[in-house]
Amino acid sequence: MNLVSNNLVDLAENLRGLGISPTKQRIAIGEVIFSRNQHISAEQILEKVQKADASVSKATVYNTLNLFVEKKIVRELIIDRSKVFYDPNTDFHHHIYNVDTGEIRDISAESLSVTGLPELPSGVQLEGADVVIRVRSKPVESAVSV
Ligand SMILES: [Zn+2]
Repeated sequence: MNLVSNNLVDLAENLRGLGISPTKQRIAIGEVIFSRNQHISAEQILEKVQKADASVSKATVYNTLNLFVEKKIVRELIIDRSKVFYDPNTDFHHHIYNVDTGEIRDISAESLSVTGLPELPSGVQLEGADVVIRVRSKPVESAVSV
């Protein structure tokens, strides 16, 4: 389910359909996340939500994000321990991450294939094999003197 660009009535309706009670705070958080395709951190979400409603606490934002991830309407993208982003695009896809600028871009699932997965331990099944390609900006070439 992709909730990006849902209007508010639909958002509340969709949350209800997933068994999530559409509280004012959850709607405010959903509004920020689903406003467009983006990769947004919990801190950025908190900042935006609090601009609209200062009563929304950090704990509420984190709890709501966990709930949205659990219900698979938001995907958690862990770049490293200190960089976790939330992605409203839950279709299977990969990412390019620029370590210099922090920019994250989507790569379509078709443009990259993961082959040669190792044999999985017994008792588990594959959940996904999504890839983060890390890049850095090329050094600026000094002007060529003639
Ligand atoms: Zn993405």
